[in-house]
Parts: sequence; structure tokens; C-alpha cells
Amino acid sequence: TPAAAHVNTLLASYPDFPKPGILFRDLNPVFADAAAFRSLIDELAGRFAGKFDAVAGIEARGFLLAAAVGYAADVAVLAVRKGGKLPGAVLSEEYDLEYGSACLELEIGQLAPGSRVLVLDDVLATGGTIAATSRLIGRAGYALAGVGVVLELTDLDGRSRLGDAAVHTIVAL
Ligand code: 5GP
Repeated sequence: TPAAAHVNTLLASYPDFPKPGILFRDLNPVFADAAAFRSLIDELAGRFAGKFDAVAGIEARGFLLAAAVGYAADVAVLAVRKGGKLPGAVLSEEYDLEYGSACLELEIGQLAPGSRVLVLDDVLATGGTIAATSRLIGRAGYALAGVGVVLELTDLDGRSRLGDAAVHTIVAL
């Protein structure tokens, strides 16, 4: 696809960041190219066209994708945030990281029950982040419309943690 071609051209990779042994994939050069960024948004919005009532972006790079897809599709935008940043009544989900654990949160009562929510993030690695987000969507009373990511790191088999969700990946490495 045009978006995949942009990603393959612009993606940067950094060995041993942020820790020894990790090959970090940097998508910021893709976001920093206007035609490339537009192609990502067009592909994600097009793949799920008519199938979602809202988008949920995962902090932080997922916010960039969700804002643009939400605008393009004229739907609501939700922010799934790291623990402790949202006020009022929130749902929390803990998930395991390589070392320790992390927490994601969603404010309740933002959408009508049963709303179909498309979850967006930049990278699908082990799948823990998106799995926790999909639990938040379910607990909030919404339906998971699908999952869209720019890059899937297939070695880590994150898809196996996402059940029968419709997962769209622009580039799989
Ligand atoms: P997971 O929970 O699937 O293991 O990790 C996914 C989360 O970690 C995403 O929110 C993603 O932003 C971040 N992440 C993991 N590996 C990378 C990487 O190589 N590059 C970037 N940009 N983010 C990563």
C-alpha cells in the first residue's frame, strides 16, 4: 500500500534503545512527512470505514493517529491514558511489562453503550498494551470495532493476545 511504502522508506531503527538488546523502531520520521502521515490516516480510516463510532488512541503516539482518524471519519475521539492522569470516574487495567507492570485508564460514560470503538496505536509488540485497552473498552460497555497499528513486530506474537479482534497492520516486520 502507499502507506506501507512510506513506512518502509522512512522508518528508523535504533539498536540498544532504550535498553541493551532492544531494537527500537522510530516512527516519528513517518509522522514528520506530510504525505506519509496522510497515507497512514487514509489507510486506517479506510480499512474500518463505516465500522466504528469512535476511535481510542493509546498514550502517546496513538493520540496522534486517533485525533487524525477521528477527524477524517467525523467520529468521537477517546484518550486511553497512563495511570494516574485522568480525573473523575475511571476504569483501570494493569498489564505486565518485561520488567514490572503498567496501568492504562479510560474515563467512563463518554459514549453511548454499545458504541463501536476502533483502537489505534503506533506499534504492536507483545500485545499487552492493546489487550489492556481492549479490556477497558469492554468494561466501559463499548464494542471493539478493531485494532489499527502502523507497525507490528511479528516475532513477539502480540496478535495471539488479541483474541478474535480485527487487527489491521500497515507494515509487519
Ligand atoms: P506491547 O504492549 O505491544 O508490548 O508494546 C506496545 C507499546 O510499546 C506501544 O504503545 C508502543 O508505542 C511501545 N513500543 C514497543 N516497542 C516499540 C518500538 O520498537 N518502537 C516504538 N515506537 N514503540 C514501541
